[in-house]
Amino acid sequence: MSNSYDWIDKAIATIEKANWYRSTRIAHPSMLMFASNNYLGLAQDRRLINAAIAATQKYGTGTTGSRLVSGHLEIHDRLEQAIANLKGTESALVFSSGYLANLGTISALVGTRDLILADAFNHSSLKQGGILSGAKVTEYSHGSYIDLEQKLKQNRHNYRRCLITTDTVFSMDGDICPLKEIISLAEQYNGMILVDEAHGTGVFGDRGGGVVSTLGVNYPLIQVGTLSKALGSLGGYVAGSAKLIEFLKNRASTWIYTTGLSPADTAAAVKAIEILQIEPQRRQDLWRNISLLKKSLSELRLNVIPSASQILAVAGGNTKQTLAIANYLKAQNIFAPAIRPPTVPTSRIRLTLTSNHTADQIYTLVDTLQAAIDRLN
Ligand code: PMP
Repeated sequence: MSNSYDWIDKAIATIEKANWYRSTRIAHPSMLMFASNNYLGLAQDRRLINAAIAATQKYGTGTTGSRLVSGHLEIHDRLEQAIANLKGTESALVFSSGYLANLGTISALVGTRDLILADAFNHSSLKQGGILSGAKVTEYSHGSYIDLEQKLKQNRHNYRRCLITTDTVFSMDGDICPLKEIISLAEQYNGMILVDEAHGTGVFGDRGGGVVSTLGVNYPLIQVGTLSKALGSLGGYVAGSAKLIEFLKNRASTWIYTTGLSPADTAAAVKAIEILQIEPQRRQDLWRNISLLKKSLSELRLNVIPSASQILAVAGGNTKQTLAIANYLKAQNIFAPAIRPPTVPTSRIRLTLTSNHTADQIYTLVDTLQAAIDRLN
């Protein structure tokens, strides 16, 4: 008798056949980690741990209600003020994750009469937010403001509102969007801009305010990000004008109909934002590591995809070869995953650096990568 779930077996077999099969791997603390987003080493910082414990003791483990009903705590206000201050915006709103912040914000801002122009390499949460909104989504070539302009020229007049969406630091290759050019096009074509600073916050800017904070931008931006990477906690946020935040509190379903962020996550994020600004040394250490890894990779025959951040991708050949490299690294106790289609167009080894890596660890990584690639030939 046919089973209505048989198709799942077949779907998994197809995924396996294409070498796209994924499964979880335990990140053993003993492994040399080059895949985490703990860019400033704050996830294990005693001060964050203590802040989370103190908030748990004061408020309990869960908020057990949505923010508009019973789950709004004084520390949520404190966190939102700290984010707004870090981002230089009037206001901010905290979501349960960065993913939900993008889904809720995009689907609140645009609908079926509107146009989204999206960088082709945007994060999944921006893509899914576009689909959820019902707006017409048109992708422009990755990083190309020339293509963006072309598409604005062709399409903008057919729609009510227009929203341009882009990562600032692209999550797979670590390159950065041409924000100044995007802003000037948005001005010209009356467009809103949503930037995702998930990988920029904490890493860029004198106080860790993100890529936007390095540019002296005047145009009103919708700045989304996460508390779960450089800030070492969990949750997401939107920072922008007071009116924008007021609107989202009334229209963003992924914020309205979900439980408020836990006391522990909220308090850890407040502490992280404080540390971020008073300990620039962490950023300096990270940027020193970035220079060292780039220099070491360039001295070898490794094909590094151009990056301007703590994320560096090394092209590893086809999917099978790239998987072989990742497995060899793993056997040598180094955690650096193969990223494969459909996440990226072609397979690559993705490396992320943190302020805590030592020079010796970076040399070990580079030597092992070279050995893994040599073994392919
Ligand atoms: N945007 C980007 C660019 C990301 O890389 C991520 C996380 N992978 C997210 C959003 C989602 O953030 P979170 O993990 O808080 O859901």
